[in-house]
Amino acid sequence: MLPKRSKKIWKIGLVKKRINNLNELLPFSQLQALLQRGDITCQDIVEQCLHNITQGAHLNAFLRVYAEEAKQNATSIDQKCRESSPLPLTGLIVGLKDLLCYQDHPVQAASKILEGFISQFSATAVQRLVAKDAIVIGHQNCDQFGMGSSNENSAFGPVRNALDATRVAGGSSGGSAVAVQAHMCHVSLGTDTGGSVRQPAAFCGLVGLKPTYGRISRHGLIAYASSFDTIGILAQDVQACATVLETIAGPDAFDGTVSQRPVPTYTKLLSLHGKVKVAYLPTTLTHAALQPSIRKKTQAALDKLRQDGHQVEAVDFSLLAYALPAYYVLVNAEASSNLARFDGVRYGYRNAEGTAVADMYRKTRTQGFGQEVQRRILTGTFVLSADYYDAWYIKAQKVRRLIKEQLEVILADYDFIVLPTTPTTAFKIGEYTQDPLSMYLADLYTVIASLAGVPAISIPNGTDSQGLPIGLQAIAPAFGEAKLLAFSNYFAALVKDA
Ligand code: GLN
Repeated sequence: MLPKRSKKIWKIGLVKKRINNLNELLPFSQLQALLQRGDITCQDIVEQCLHNITQGAHLNAFLRVYAEEAKQNATSIDQKCRESSPLPLTGLIVGLKDLLCYQDHPVQAASKILEGFISQFSATAVQRLVAKDAIVIGHQNCDQFGMGSSNENSAFGPVRNALDATRVAGGSSGGSAVAVQAHMCHVSLGTDTGGSVRQPAAFCGLVGLKPTYGRISRHGLIAYASSFDTIGILAQDVQACATVLETIAGPDAFDGTVSQRPVPTYTKLLSLHGKVKVAYLPTTLTHAALQPSIRKKTQAALDKLRQDGHQVEAVDFSLLAYALPAYYVLVNAEASSNLARFDGVRYGYRNAEGTAVADMYRKTRTQGFGQEVQRRILTGTFVLSADYYDAWYIKAQKVRRLIKEQLEVILADYDFIVLPTTPTTAFKIGEYTQDPLSMYLADLYTVIASLAGVPAISIPNGTDSQGLPIGLQAIAPAFGEAKLLAFSNYFAALVKDA
């Protein structure tokens, strides 16, 4: 039995500082002891998140906030805590990218085409969090169907970076990143097909983890490119990522591609033991698109590893130039197939003005999908068409295989590959909207791990001269999450305040 809590301690002393009227959330790792002692309740934490969501409404991070429901859940979880010990995720406030199904709640992929659609079941990852008493606070803005690198392709307007509201949050999980950045929730579940968790994490100064393909069930995740799609985690620290990963990963009868491997208790494995062998890829550091301050910070981070006794070596990676083209051919092909199901008949929005069925399909899809989604469906259909299939789709598959093999060779010899997460820091809203190819360049360094299906993480690595966050990426062998998280935990502390 816990003592009855008397005052809202977060309001008087436990809050570290206030930024822009936002109450900074205590790290989840510190909450459990306070909850146990009754110094804080889930109701307090939910109130604090809701306060921050209201204060940061102009950032456009959330599409739907489940305020009343979150408060009710908090009340019943608090009641449970008075009778028995908290569960592992008691007190954890979670936001969901608008691509993840949550039973009896709308989900829209931030697109008009799913207007009015209500999920009949929860994604496995969501259900596993809720079963451990995490509280879902709302659905977050993103690029439609996860297609974008700046969160400007949403039917609900762009997400703004909390550090500078004239700049993008990154994408496609931009709302998920800003929600954590602005202390509206502890963690967000995003999705990472080609960088959509790591890139916004880098732009917002967060930790963003893309696990191995197949580590987390995709059941209940609206498909973009099924052979790439992974659920990813955005958090303020590595520990919170580990807590969520060990809860949601693992076998699931609803997803035939999920791995049967047992899930390590990542939170118990967060200390790095001994020295590691790290590869860096000079082609990533000499690329013309790389902002000089990011190059300098990445090199400084590698130097720190060396000074700390780790082995750091340059390794040839000649295929970098082919990664982005191969990625965009393949994901568009898969998207054109996956999105064929949105025809106005089965889901969401329908334009019923036409008289013939074909007319209804055409009008529904023209009005329902955003411009970038349509561009991708068209190019994807083109690369899969009989006359061009070999020249584009099959060729891109071959390039994917070569990249995967080259990465596997490197990762057989080295524990990790370290490289920048993005070529630039957060750019201005509108800067690249008329220039899709420049926008695609934002994914230059993230698509590599996605093509190979291996885990990768972005951790904060200081800021540029304008004070904008820089991300540092580490890639590990398939299913190497435990060591990757331990290394990131150590590395994030090593480069902090550099
Ligand atoms: N920006 C990349 C794209 O548009 C990555 C998206 C993602 O990972 N969902 O495809």
